[in-house]
Amino acid sequence: MNSILNSKKRLEKHGIKPSLQRMAVMDYLMTHRTHPTVEMIFNDLSPDIPTLSKTTVYNTVKLLAEHEAILTLNIDEKNVRYDGDISPHAHFRCKLCGNIHDFPIERMEIKHPECEGFTISETQVYYSGFCRNCKN
Ligand SMILES: [Zn+2]
Ligand SMILES: [Zn+2]
Repeated sequence: MNSILNSKKRLEKHGIKPSLQRMAVMDYLMTHRTHPTVEMIFNDLSPDIPTLSKTTVYNTVKLLAEHEAILTLNIDEKNVRYDGDISPHAHFRCKLCGNIHDFPIERMEIKHPECEGFTISETQVYYSGFCRNCKN
């Protein structure tokens, strides 16, 4: 229940009217650190919300991303992934299991004269390789 309240706050903070389904999707993204696809969100939420459709999930994540309440990740070439953690961090995608991990980066700062005068509105840093589980 507490996290649902958090998701309502997040939506309102980003100027989104909190409907029940939007809150459910937002809550899912804030509590699942798996960087899920629309499919994954839908499959997990639909048993609890029978009225939910895949189109609604798709439209909701699009809306949330437009309002910068979530991040859109293009790290997976087959599926767009979504992230409820909007703080600056990098991502690591395992080439074997496909899991996406958060990689905290000390400071995502760019200090180079070549970059002066540019305004950055979005940052996506991706690494790929093999995760701890798949390495062996
Ligand atoms: Zn792996
Ligand atoms: Zn992330």
